[in-house]
Amino acid sequence: MKANHVAIIGGGVSGLAAGIHLARKGIRASLFEANDRLGGCCSTTEVDGYTFNNGAMFIAVPRLLDHAFARLQLDRASLLPLRRIATPQASQLPGGTSITLGDRQHVRIDGDDGDARTAKLQAEIERCVEKWNPLLKIFTDDLLTHPMSLPRVIAKAWRHLPKLRGNLADELKRNFSDPEARAALAAVTLYTGLPIERTPVFLIVGLISMLQDGLHLPESGMGAVSDVLHTTFRELGGQVHTSTPVAKIRIEDGRTRGLILENGESVAADAVISTVGGMTTFTHLLDPSQVPRAMQRRVQRAPLSHRTLGIQLGLRNRIQPMAHSVNHIPLMDQQQRLLAPQAGGIEWFNYTVPTLPMPELAPPGGSIVEMFTAVDERLPLDAWTEQAKTAAAEAAIAALARHQPLEIVVKRISSPKDYAERMHLFAGSVYGLSPAARPDQQFPHATPVDGLYLAGQTTYPGFGVATSVFSGVFAAEALVGP
Ligand SMILES: Cc1cc2nc3c(=O)[nH]c(=O)nc-3n(C[C@H](O)[C@H](O)[C@H](O)COP(=O)(O)OP(=O)(O)OC[C@H]3O[C@@H](n4cnc5c(N)ncnc54)[C@H](O)[C@@H]3O)c2cc1C
Repeated sequence: MKANHVAIIGGGVSGLAAGIHLARKGIRASLFEANDRLGGCCSTTEVDGYTFNNGAMFIAVPRLLDHAFARLQLDRASLLPLRRIATPQASQLPGGTSITLGDRQHVRIDGDDGDARTAKLQAEIERCVEKWNPLLKIFTDDLLTHPMSLPRVIAKAWRHLPKLRGNLADELKRNFSDPEARAALAAVTLYTGLPIERTPVFLIVGLISMLQDGLHLPESGMGAVSDVLHTTFRELGGQVHTSTPVAKIRIEDGRTRGLILENGESVAADAVISTVGGMTTFTHLLDPSQVPRAMQRRVQRAPLSHRTLGIQLGLRNRIQPMAHSVNHIPLMDQQQRLLAPQAGGIEWFNYTVPTLPMPELAPPGGSIVEMFTAVDERLPLDAWTEQAKTAAAEAAIAALARHQPLEIVVKRISSPKDYAERMHLFAGSVYGLSPAARPDQQFPHATPVDGLYLAGQTTYPGFGVATSVFSGVFAAEALVGP
């Protein structure tokens, strides 16, 4: 499509990436962001010297981010140095066993018969890595670097298709004989919000990547990703308008003509890239009569991801857990208990300590803790009053206080209502679509509305910063070519 001026809705990493691609093609790109800061779910906010994440906590597959940056003609290594989290996970099990999962396949079981069990787990991990590594490579180096297409999946991964049937619980049972080790491995995917029996088996590639490469944090925190993209976009002449929410996409004679801002201003554009998710775009930014049937159906049937209560604490004291992320968990087949509110006090939970690999995110001697706890998914957003969220957060903090000394100086609590209102996440669902959504449930980059393109969450499988960057590139490529 020939476009002189493109308007981008949303200044998260996907909107910024789309803007860079367009600007490199010599197209005028104007980006409109509702909040007063860029980066969306991959940004940070400083409160009293504590640098808190506004969403993403780590980079899971750094090679994919390298590819995404390379696609934007950016050298990730020099622009965005990463710090490796060598021990990403530790799990405490009810019988007193603790299990740490590190990079380079370093694992350790402390408990009865720990040395022998560690040796066995290490051997099983080696076999599992050998089995899944080829598919991880195909995902990272090929499938996720192109718009999702079934023919491409079949062409590139046909040898592995039989492995992709079934769920992650069955795969872990097949590969790991020690029930407690299985529990620790299953807990790595708790952040998907899915019961392990309903977690698609392909998500094991994230676990395989972690067991080899660990997890990563950009130096100076997650906000550095969007800072680099923002600087590049500006240098290329991109226009950025923060605190400028978009009210509607202008459609005239069946064609996209620009935007109407909430301040009433009209912006003319030849095309629009919306990065606020398929559901929000088609239910809030267009009038129902403008939404094609196929998109109406997709919105109605969209399987949403889970909601959560985010609890972030700034501590005066330094805490030094065994790993960046710590799980207090039951065995694998009981772990759905972490996905619903726990009656009578929280027993099972996990928390992350970003200051363990990066102490400078807190004032000297201090720490940051982040927890995401399950909420009742049936509660309407309006039920999340200040009182309700404080009560839910205090229950989680009490559970944490049984394991760590907490000298709390800053509390930052985000309810599903806050995620919906402050971060503009559809219905407060953290990843938009469920990570278990099928390819045909995702939204297309080129929509049936002439001149309207989509990027960001809901256009790619699962979640993740690197895939979001790629989605911005794909939407821009769908508009102006590679
Ligand atoms: C709690 C949480 C934890 C996560 N953890 C991780 C993790 O550890 N690792 C990882 O890789 N990924 C993680 N993710 C996912 C990752 O953060 C996202 O996939 C990615 O940041 C999404 O980027 P985006 O640009 O697509 O969307 P967003 O970041 O949501 O950007 C969209 C932007 O659009 C703006 N906007 C919305 N409506 C309007 C409007 N009407 N007008 C103008 N602007 C508007 C929003 O304010 C926002 O800035 C997490 C996400 C969440 C929510």
